[in-house]
Order: sequence, then structure tokens, then C-alpha cells
Amino acid sequence: MIKAVTGTKDLLPSDNPRWKYLEKIVDQVFTNFNYKEIRTPLFEETEIFARGIGEDTDVVGKEMYTFTDRSGTSLTLKPEMTAAVVRAYNEHSLGTQQPLVKLYYISPMFRQERPQAGRFRQFHQFGAEAIGSKSPLLDAEMIQMSYEILKRLGLKNLTVKINSLGLPETRESYKKLLKDYLKDKKEKLSEDSRKRFDKNILRIFDSKFESDQKILKDAPKIIEHLDEESKKDFEIVKVLLTKSNIPFEIDPALVRGLDYYTKLTFEIDSGSVGAQTALVGGGRYDLLIENLGGKPTPATGFAAGIERILLARKNEHVDLTRTQYLDVYLIRLDEVTEKEVFQLASFLRNEKLTVDFDYLNRSVKSQMREANKMNARVTLFVGGENYKNGSAIVKEMILSEERLLRIKDQTGIDFDSTELQKWLNEERGTCGYGTCQRTVKTGFRYCKEHDLQRPK
Ligand code: AMP
Repeated sequence: MIKAVTGTKDLLPSDNPRWKYLEKIVDQVFTNFNYKEIRTPLFEETEIFARGIGEDTDVVGKEMYTFTDRSGTSLTLKPEMTAAVVRAYNEHSLGTQQPLVKLYYISPMFRQERPQAGRFRQFHQFGAEAIGSKSPLLDAEMIQMSYEILKRLGLKNLTVKINSLGLPETRESYKKLLKDYLKDKKEKLSEDSRKRFDKNILRIFDSKFESDQKILKDAPKIIEHLDEESKKDFEIVKVLLTKSNIPFEIDPALVRGLDYYTKLTFEIDSGSVGAQTALVGGGRYDLLIENLGGKPTPATGFAAGIERILLARKNEHVDLTRTQYLDVYLIRLDEVTEKEVFQLASFLRNEKLTVDFDYLNRSVKSQMREANKMNARVTLFVGGENYKNGSAIVKEMILSEERLLRIKDQTGIDFDSTELQKWLNEERGTCGYGTCQRTVKTGFRYCKEHDLQRPK
């Protein structure tokens, strides 16, 4: 059997309610903060990412899906969104329409990493970019928005880590300090870290080796060597986070692998997802817009991994989703043709009702079973004596109450669905889940709050 490519996943109907729920919360929070959605193509010219992310990062050096198309152009499936958003920002001169552009996205990303729990080759991110301002308020806003989304999704086991990389000059002089400190310890570093020592020394902090981390423990910290401006901005972010009741830690090792970061970097980790703990990563990237051919423009943003967030929700047992319902299931009795049922279904669907029926010529008994399985709120029996006279029995599925509704005359369908709609909107008793006294509508078992299930 041909299977999906390693590191990619199908989202089956049983998975999708969780994704839709997450996307709804994401849309809600970004809308609350007045961010507007942007969608960019799945692939870009390779140069966008090579220049935007940095040639000597793992993403560009080892993980990109790059191919040459038939015209000889080198293209890359997007491994992250920021460079693509900036390309679009520059191309459409978004900055001339508005001095500050606040954008968000939800999109698949592609990286050829070693697949493991929480790490895929096609994965999905949502994130935001605020382009056009140096204000640390926006840095705080990035942390606030991502934290708010995770909280609204019910996650608890979260750690916010922040750091500052300072202005480019600060970073360069800090690199020298770090190099001085590590010079005589270089031989003791892992092979990976020795390579990074020459190519991109800050990335030594990303090393997974304990022996490297031991050496780094006493290394000079960039946070203690900040320029005045970065120091001031960092203090403002700290105050704003405290005022927003967002607990945070300062993590001097948080340098991130990407070249375009300046000043604030942050990460939100979860204690509920195993080895790959980062749910969110972000920070300021004041150099990127210029780097990709635009005018010098300050910007800040973040990206969050959807698969990992869903894994955290699963492990924290908060991935509850509403049961899926059908408004009406049509049950065909023997003497009625399929065409008539088809027509009636089309009519009701046009009235904005969710409707289904049997396409497999099954017995009335199995049609009833199917209606139950699909959680139909009412079943409508097409056929029988009443049907000959233009009516149909409609049965509510929870209390088994039946009503006779007029549905056709000699010339065809003559169904005023107002009565059915009114019936479906009636309040019918109380929820009864625990001590819940909320009202329940026709054909539902519980109130909205308690009508939840855990998708498998
Ligand atoms: P990054 O763009 O590397 O800063 O990643 C931002 C977030 O995307 C991470 O914190 C993860 O939640 C998620 N992420 C990154 N790479 C992967 C991957 N290969 N598979 C699944 N999620 C990922």
C-alpha cells in the first residue's frame, strides 16, 4: 500500500474538529488585537529564505525542500513565514498605506527534519508580524497574544522565556566576548559546537550536549552587555508582562537560530509535550525588511506550532470538542423514489439546514441506526399514508416526540420550513449534566457547555 510521505500526516474527519476549534480561537484573539490575515504562496524563490533566514542556520543549510522547476528557477517550500510575509510587504508596499502593518497567518510549513513526536516535515504554524514600529509595546503584545491563545485553548503547563540580543553592534561585540571566553575551551566542545564557533557562535547556546552547556554556564551573558536602548526596551517589556499577569523567566541562552533577530527574543515552552518543548518562538527582527530589499523598517513577530499545541492539549486532557450534529436525517420508506428524497434534501439544504440521507439503499432500520450515529436532531420519514397526502412525520430524536409537517402538493415540494426551524430553535428542558440547569434546544442532549466529546 502506498503511504503518506514520512513526516507528513493526514488530518482525518475525527481530527478536524480540534483543528477548527484551534483556528477559531486563533482568529478570535488576532481579531481582538486588530491583526489582519495574510496568505502567501506555499513556495517562494529560494533566495527569499536564504537571505531572510541566514545561510548558516540549520533551516537553510539542512532542512529546506528546495527544487529547480522546469525553467531553471530554484524554488523552496516555505520553511517559515516571516521572510515570505516581508517579501509580500515589500512587493505590495504595504507600509505606504499604513505606517504600522499588523498581520497574522495560519499556514503549513515544510522542513526536512528527523521526524519524532512533535516534529514533522509538513507541520502547521500560526503567527503574527507587526511591521513598522520599534515600540517594545509590540514585543509585549506578541507575547501577550500567543500566551492568550494558549490560555484560551486551556493550556496550563507553560513557561515564558525572554532574552534580548541587543542592537547589531552589541551583538558583534558580545560575540567577541564569547569567543574570548570559549577560545581555550574550544577543544572540549562537541564537534557541532566547534563548527558553530567559527560560523555562528551564538548558536552554540542551542547545543543539546550537557558538556557544552556546562562550559556555557559561566560564559558572559548578552543580557549583561546590552546597549542603553535595548536595555530600556527590555525593561518596558518586563513591566508590561508583569502588569498583564504573564509570568516569565529570563533565559540568557535564548539566542534563536535566525540571523535577523535584534533585541527581544522569546519562547513559550510546555511541560506537557516531551522532548520538543517549544510551542512558540518569536522576537524582533529590525534588519530583515532591509535585508530583503525594502526600506529599513523595524518589525517584531512570532510563530507557534499547531501540532505541538494540540499534543499539549491532548496530554493536559483539555482537547474537548463539540459533538457533531445533523439537523435532519431523511428516512426513505420503500415506495418513494430516491429522486424524491434527493430533491427534498436539496430543498432543506437550501434553507441552510444540515441534512443527510441514505445513498446505499438500506433498510429503514439501518437508516434509523445511521441517523442515530450521526446525531440527527430530527428524522423526517419520506413515505407512507401521510406522504401520499402531502405530509411527513418528523421525529425528534431525544424525547421521541413526533409532529406532522406539510411538505408537498401535487405539483411538487411545498414545504414551509419556518415551522421546522422554529421547532429546532425551541428550548426543551434543562441540561441535567451534574447540577447544570442551562436550557437545551430540540434534538440536543446537553447544553452547549456540556455537549463536548474528546475526538479519538
Ligand atoms: P521556529 O520557526 O523554528 O521558531 O518554530 C516555531 C514553532 O513552530 C516551534 O516552537 C514549534 O512549535 C513549531 N515547529 C517548528 N518546527 C517544527 C516541526 N518540524 N514540526 C512541528 N512543529 C514545528
